Amino acid sequence: MHASVAAARPAPILTSVERTIVETASLENVRGTIDQLIAGGPRAASSDAYRAAAELMVGTLASYGWDARIESVSRSALHEAKHGAATLYNVVADRKGTAPDAQRQLVIAGAHLDTVPEGVGANDNSSGAATLLEAARVLGSVPMANDVRLLWFDGEEQGLLGSRARVNSGSDELARTKVMLNADMLASKEQPGFDPGTNTPQADIDRMHAIGRKAGIELEQRGPSGSGDHFSYDQAKVPSFYLGVSEQGAYSDPNYHQPSDTVANMDTVALGQWTKLLPLSIYDYAGAGTAH
Ligand SMILES: [Zn+2]
Repeated sequence: MHASVAAARPAPILTSVERTIVETASLENVRGTIDQLIAGGPRAASSDAYRAAAELMVGTLASYGWDARIESVSRSALHEAKHGAATLYNVVADRKGTAPDAQRQLVIAGAHLDTVPEGVGANDNSSGAATLLEAARVLGSVPMANDVRLLWFDGEEQGLLGSRARVNSGSDELARTKVMLNADMLASKEQPGFDPGTNTPQADIDRMHAIGRKAGIELEQRGPSGSGDHFSYDQAKVPSFYLGVSEQGAYSDPNYHQPSDTVANMDTVALGQWTKLLPLSIYDYAGAGTAH
């Protein structure tokens, strides 16, 4: 017999670009954006405060080198009956990859920018919206092989309206989408984790665990979930992930959808981990590009 030796998992080796991404992504920047977002009050779908936040995103994204715009979305008759006819506004930001046209796929990362009317939504989802903006800053000058599209959705709290509208618009983006990563409630008091979509292959799930390890984080894997904008893409058969709080974690959080969802109640440890993980995930899927 011999003594058993615990197999130590070797630390993943980061490329120099990955190391730069992890070291450059700044929790302070994310917190600064959250402060800016919540200063305008609750951002209910279609509200003036929401629109102001969308314009803030577009201006900042342009300064980071992204081709950014606001996309107006009309409500379906069903949604009009329930929520009124006000227009929804998604924010869309694109960067073209460096691979040849025929080889490029699309990597989508999104976060809802709206909140419930009851509160400013520091965690839900100023955290995801701000972390995605920081990912845009960090990746703004990094060459990537695939096209990358970042989306900030309106109307999530009214039933995933912004993301559904994109998926239903008949856009040809879906057929060439490699993955859709959705960031929602990244400042929750629990181990960072993900819900894969029902159409997410095991190879992608393994890949997400590996990305976590690159950032030094063991991600908790949960069951598929229909609560989040990734679900709109999952229904369109696009491999997708909900990154952020677990359903159980959200529903047991006393601040969920309450006025008390404030900066003081955010978990900045988790938020700091996601600050590094989100840009690393986007880069992993987008692939290293060639500088030119
Ligand atoms: Zn949310």
